[in-house]
Amino acid sequence: MQIILHDTLTGSDRPFLPHDPNRVTCYVCGPTVYHYVHIGNARPVVVFDLLTRLLRLTYSGLSYARNITDVDDKINAAAQREGVPIRQLAERYARAFHEDMAALAALPPDIEPFATDHIAAMIRLIEQLLARGHAYEAQGHVLFHVPSDPNYGILSHRSRDEMLAGARVEVAPYKKDPADFVLWKPSPPELPGWDSPWGRGRPGWHIECTAMIATHLGQTIDLHGGGQDLIFPHHENEIAQGCCAHGTDHFARYWLHNGYLTIAGEKMSKSLGNFRTVRELLTHYPGEAIRYVLLTAHYRKPLDFSAEALTQAVRALDRLYATLHAAATLPVAAIDLTAWGTAVGLAPHRIAELTSRFGPTYTPWDATLGPHPVAEALRTIAPTTAAVTMAHLQTAWPAHAATLPAPYGGADKPLPLLGLGAAPRLVAALANDLNTPAALAVLHDLAAELRADPTPVAKAELLASAELLGLLTTGLPAWRQGGHPAAGATLTAEAIEALIAERTAARTARDFARADAIRQQLADAGILLEDTKNGTIWRRKWPEETL
Ligand SMILES: [Zn+2]
Repeated sequence: MQIILHDTLTGSDRPFLPHDPNRVTCYVCGPTVYHYVHIGNARPVVVFDLLTRLLRLTYSGLSYARNITDVDDKINAAAQREGVPIRQLAERYARAFHEDMAALAALPPDIEPFATDHIAAMIRLIEQLLARGHAYEAQGHVLFHVPSDPNYGILSHRSRDEMLAGARVEVAPYKKDPADFVLWKPSPPELPGWDSPWGRGRPGWHIECTAMIATHLGQTIDLHGGGQDLIFPHHENEIAQGCCAHGTDHFARYWLHNGYLTIAGEKMSKSLGNFRTVRELLTHYPGEAIRYVLLTAHYRKPLDFSAEALTQAVRALDRLYATLHAAATLPVAAIDLTAWGTAVGLAPHRIAELTSRFGPTYTPWDATLGPHPVAEALRTIAPTTAAVTMAHLQTAWPAHAATLPAPYGGADKPLPLLGLGAAPRLVAALANDLNTPAALAVLHDLAAELRADPTPVAKAELLASAELLGLLTTGLPAWRQGGHPAAGATLTAEAIEALIAERTAARTARDFARADAIRQQLADAGILLEDTKNGTIWRRKWPEETL
């Protein structure tokens, strides 16, 4: 399978060719943890979650690192306000971040490094830059000297004047050039600081990613990602630091950036008061609907996040769950991995690896039974540890697997590789620079095909495709129960079913007044009905819905 990616540095779509297919290296800039993350922070997490799912299917090995920035002026200020050490504050919000991302079914990275665990590596990197003449010391600061790097600007394609304007550079008397940026700065006694050859201080922001990449992934990596707002100055500075310290030509072979996110047409900003944290949104909408909205726009395009978009996502998911409900008694076919791998264009040795690990067939999780077990396992480990990685998920998996029915259960069942068996045309849409709007259209086509011709194979293909996208993870029973414990609490499932039976009988008897009255009674109790050709199905509504 040939994955095509749009590379920001060259400005072109390029076939993705990793340096070593047995160990693809990928780094994405993670959150600064001083508060709950906002929905804009969730976009790169979900975009790169999807990309890494595709890479894990295609390649034998992936090392995906996403950092936690736990030293920063905002963290210092928040920790001072609360009178707690920065590490304590950072770990609290890192846990909250993991909980929120687990609710969006985003898998963890393989490595989740914390900046303050890498101060020694940052100091070594700064020493290399000083030794090579790319940095200088002035008044307790160490600065990167931008004119020493002839390639500076290679990523952002900006002129020197644009760069100076874009960086909103601080004019400081100790700077040799106004574009020079801070690698290390002195810390007064009341702020966190570390001993260094330049006195007690703390790192500039950009140096942490370069140091963590070199420590965990190497001097040149395959893929580097993040939000579009990071292109300049953050990623430009990461390249300058890395290439100048190591004497390399390339810092990352491919640069990927996701577009901006707006809230109901407006840029999200503190002054507009339209900051939406993921945590707050999750009290009103299912995490799966939030994820769905994030996938509706192509990752490089702007995305408008609104109540309407969320309501549409809930409706789209309703249609998919209604399809599953109609096919609830149908078994899920076991997908032949050799035939599937050949159809999606995996390399023969990759197909051999998959069959040796998972056996000749793969049965995707039947979402009519309950929540996806991998998503469930992730939700249980997310709040337990400050850094959450795929290794934590691997460790937690056997206990979850032991509770599952056949063919999913058993302590010896390996952690599923999500998306095995996904429809080849859906995989092809994603391999084409992660075209998620096209992939969602395929998902709805697959649901239509299952409705038209209910077969175990059609059901397996829909489930596997949803699994690759990280959708249908709530599972049918929980989706129908809705997110609002109070909605319809006065009516038990039996009472609801009895009213629906009475309504069906009234409709058959052409007593439409009675049928409408029952529908209204249920609506008032927060129960939504949908009439399908296989009968009427119901679910409790989510809090913000105004259906
Ligand atoms: Zn970074």
